[in-house]
Amino acid sequence: MNSRQDIYDVIVVGAGPAGATTAYYLALSQGGGETPRVALLEKAHFPRDKVCGDAWCAPALDILEDMGVLQKLEAEGLVRDTRAGGFVSPSGECFVSTGLEAGAPGTRVYAIKRIICDERIAHAARDAGAELIEGAAVRDATLEEDGLWTVRCSDGRVFRGKLLVAADGAPSKLARRLGIVSGSPTGFAARQYVKGGTHNFRADGVLFYPSYILPGYVALFRHYNDDIDLGSYVIPGGAAHSKELRHIYEERVRRDPLIRRVLGPKAEYLEPLRIAPLRLGGVERSYARQFLAVGDAAGQIDPLTGEGIHTAMIAGRIAARTLRDMLLRGDLSEGACAAYQEGWQAAFGREFPASALAARFTYRVPALLDAASVVAQRRGDAFMNTFGAAMTGVAPKTTFLKPGVALPLALEIPRQLLRGILRKEGGVDARYARSVQAGRERATSFPNACLIDPQVDG
Ligand SMILES: Cc1cc2nc3c(=O)[nH]c(=O)nc-3n(C[C@H](O)[C@H](O)[C@H](O)COP(=O)(O)OP(=O)(O)OC[C@H]3O[C@@H](n4cnc5c(N)ncnc54)[C@H](O)[C@@H]3O)c2cc1C
Repeated sequence: MNSRQDIYDVIVVGAGPAGATTAYYLALSQGGGETPRVALLEKAHFPRDKVCGDAWCAPALDILEDMGVLQKLEAEGLVRDTRAGGFVSPSGECFVSTGLEAGAPGTRVYAIKRIICDERIAHAARDAGAELIEGAAVRDATLEEDGLWTVRCSDGRVFRGKLLVAADGAPSKLARRLGIVSGSPTGFAARQYVKGGTHNFRADGVLFYPSYILPGYVALFRHYNDDIDLGSYVIPGGAAHSKELRHIYEERVRRDPLIRRVLGPKAEYLEPLRIAPLRLGGVERSYARQFLAVGDAAGQIDPLTGEGIHTAMIAGRIAARTLRDMLLRGDLSEGACAAYQEGWQAAFGREFPASALAARFTYRVPALLDAASVVAQRRGDAFMNTFGAAMTGVAPKTTFLKPGVALPLALEIPRQLLRGILRKEGGVDARYARSVQAGRERATSFPNACLIDPQVDG
């Protein structure tokens, strides 16, 4: 039988952004008059990689800053601000900011390699007082009659605790095994790193929305060392099916004229294509008695963008607050756990249905993205910042309905729809392919020099 000393207040399974953030804020807090005893179990050994687009949105950066992690990464030169960024619409309209103007507050996005940043967050949790136990692959967990969880690892180790957090990623094996989360992830995304110094890409972060992958996209994020994270996202709501992602990548992305030109003929890949699931839109129930699911395990990925690092970290902070309050009050009931679901729903979850709707809309009316790019070309960074904030969930989706955004878009969408017909420019794909040539010729195609190095030919 375990002595009381062996019993953790909270056992967190998975030390990705969700689990490590939960453990960090729990370890800092005072529960029941004492600092809670927290175990952070991770099956891998750090540094460990995670297949990802490596784009850390503003809310994640704010939390990293609060932990003191971001300042150190910046000082060591391991981050890249993607201010010189933008997007290319389905018909090849391109807005890429020079990044010379200051970004609006709350809109910054950094490229940081997960292999670097995840370890830093896990170590921040450890330094705050959580026990980080690596190489601990959790096999199952049971809530025993004595009111404590027994958590068993594949190597035979056993941990006991009052409260359990599943932060084990999109497959959500633990919560599914316990019957709390059901169903398989509905989205998939892929990554391939391109070696720095071998490519043609001169911006920092650009999303390409070719019609073949809508409402998903292809994202290029440039790292501190010039490596590129080339990510492809199949988002539900369009014609592309998740199971086809490898085929789409090989047959369309790798042959895409604009992406080929941006990468250039000498691009070297640092790894084979790696594909991982996206559990999108939030699960209906992320809690049970003495149990919470956090991050991808609870499907906390935005259904418009496939981004989930910042939501995982926000949810981790909310989970820590809920668990701390439960320990303080000595109330470990299911009702007390429900406060967590309400917390993350209020923080970002209620935006998810609007995100899913926006995804379906961009697939049905790709001219929306064409119009957004053209309006951004006219109005510059101010418009782009507002549009980008709503796209990435920093601002609510109702931002799209504000007059400053909705009116110019409403005027431009019909123009874009008519353009192909009146000017006989052909369909959206033909215009997209032709924009490669236009991109070469345009001296200031917002500003194209930023997207493609004019010295290097495609
Ligand atoms: C290709 C791709 C690109 C993406 N791009 C972006 C992007 O650019 N920006 C963005 O914000 N989001 C992006 N996402 C989503 C993002 O990766 C996730 O939302 C984020 O990683 C969620 O963090 P998490 O901690 O919940 O899960 P994870 O990061 O998956 O962490 C889960 C952890 O649990 C551990 N674990 C799993 N099982 C066990 C077990 N049995 N026992 C112990 N430990 C276990 C794992 O080893 C891992 O460390 C992308 C996803 C994919 C697939």
